[in-house]
Amino acid sequence: RLQFENIRHGYGGREIVRGVSLTAFPGKVLCLLGPSGSGKSTLLRIAAGLEIPHAGRLLINDVEASGPAGFLPPERRGVGLMFQDFALFPHMTVAANVAFGLTHVQKPARQAIAAEALARVGLAGYEAKYPHMLSGGEQQRVALARAVAPRPSVLLMDEPFSGLDSRLKDQVRADTLAVLRETGATVVVVTHDPEEAMGMADQIALLKDGELVQTGSARELFTRPNSVFAASFFSEIN
Ligand code: ATP
Ligand code: MG
Repeated sequence: RLQFENIRHGYGGREIVRGVSLTAFPGKVLCLLGPSGSGKSTLLRIAAGLEIPHAGRLLINDVEASGPAGFLPPERRGVGLMFQDFALFPHMTVAANVAFGLTHVQKPARQAIAAEALARVGLAGYEAKYPHMLSGGEQQRVALARAVAPRPSVLLMDEPFSGLDSRLKDQVRADTLAVLRETGATVVVVTHDPEEAMGMADQIALLKDGELVQTGSARELFTRPNSVFAASFFSEIN
């Protein structure tokens, strides 16, 4: 479980996140949805421990990770990260990329865990290949394998499909969702695409100018938007 409690953050005197309270649950996908600049990535970076919020508390599985009591560094949070450009290391094999986050595992076991993670995303046998030999969809799956290999209890994904062409997106999204479900992790996905949120989320948190406008299931936001902003955000979808 991941809890944001009245989180505030900003840069250079400008407030970007203005008191957000929100909980993401195990086995569920929470989508942070909102226009560019609404603070989605900032919230994700706070959850990952890449930013220290100015105020409020962040709890990961009931342990304070940021707040008055202290700060838990990223590597001790049990949190997996995946970014939009996949950020694979080009000079490393697929297996080495996937094993990269397994520093807490004894070396001999790493290969086996990496191979198992690759099998989970449908890339068994890809261990010795290099990223440039793979299609965009395959690279996305390697990045997913790397994120899930350490079995994090929380998975944070920032626009994980935006690097893919639209032809691929639906299939990759469905495959990704199946892998995420299997992990049982608490998943937070950032997107600016309402259709993507509708297709993935158990819970959507709609953000505007660093504030939470509405939270609920895709169905609730679509059928009962609480504001003109929420209604207009979903109006393109049919
Ligand atoms: P997008 O959909 O474009 O990715 P977002 O909702 O993820 O937007 P954020 O990346 O959280 O938005 O950024 C919110 C605002 O904070 C933006 O105006 C951005 O310019 C600003 N910002 C983000 N990071 C920094 C930084 N390190 N220093 C200064 N300003 C920043
Ligand atoms: Mg962003």
